[in-house]
Amino acid sequence: MPELPEVETIKKTLNQLVLNKTIKEVSVYWPNIIKKPDDIEAFKHMLIGQRINDIHRRGKFLLFELDDYMLVSHLRMEGKYSLHSNDAPLKKHTHVIFSFTDQTELRYNDVRKFGTMHLFTKGQEKSQKPLQQLGPDPFDDEFTFDYFYNKLNKTSRVIKVVLLDQSVVAGLGNIYVDETLFKAGVHPEKKANLLSEYEVEAVRKQAISILKEAVAKGGTTIRSYVNGQGEMGMFQQELFVYGQENQPCKHCGQAIEKIKVGGRGTHICTKCQEYDGLGVK
Ligand SMILES: [Zn+2]
Repeated sequence: MPELPEVETIKKTLNQLVLNKTIKEVSVYWPNIIKKPDDIEAFKHMLIGQRINDIHRRGKFLLFELDDYMLVSHLRMEGKYSLHSNDAPLKKHTHVIFSFTDQTELRYNDVRKFGTMHLFTKGQEKSQKPLQQLGPDPFDDEFTFDYFYNKLNKTSRVIKVVLLDQSVVAGLGNIYVDETLFKAGVHPEKKANLLSEYEVEAVRKQAISILKEAVAKGGTTIRSYVNGQGEMGMFQQELFVYGQENQPCKHCGQAIEKIKVGGRGTHICTKCQEYDGLGVK
């Protein structure tokens, strides 16, 4: 699943590709992608004549800012956007097409069909699902030590699960949570409310710095992720634990292990992220 750095990269690319284009027609081949409005004909009708004025990101969501509406898109596992001329042959798994007045089309392709689109009158997207329950982005000013410490202090869930919870902090997924906890030296199964102030701040600072570096490198290419222009991110070369099982730890040389935490594959160096007896299991 694309996480914050990959979605940020896709956002930048889409801004180069489709900014100021005006929608002439919308085709929907898999209606379940469209979550709001319920009526697909209404969805199409609302979009006709709208210009794409900007594209934003919140957490892992892309927000297409139109004249009157905000289109909120989540790629989930395999969703992809790409720009084509309107006479280019359609690929399998193309589910939504935004045709522009300049004979080009933005096509949404999704092998797994888990992606979602919600269309709101501009301004209403913030107070409704799915953005309503979203916590701050790690890059937001609100993601302070006090905010984070209070959130962690309120829950006895393990830290890995809490970092994946988008209502606590938005944008982290399995890759960057594993990397963050490794760099912070925190065991993923430690209960969130048992982290020391020092550990909370280490996790917060590492999350911000790892995500910044990953954004600068265009994200991580795992399996099929490519940005909107078919380019791959380069952050996979910087990974310390994710996907590194049985490889020597770059800090201490001990083999990286893969365990399950909250049902998710989790990569860990048990020496660098030593279990200190607080809250595991
Ligand atoms: Zn290590």
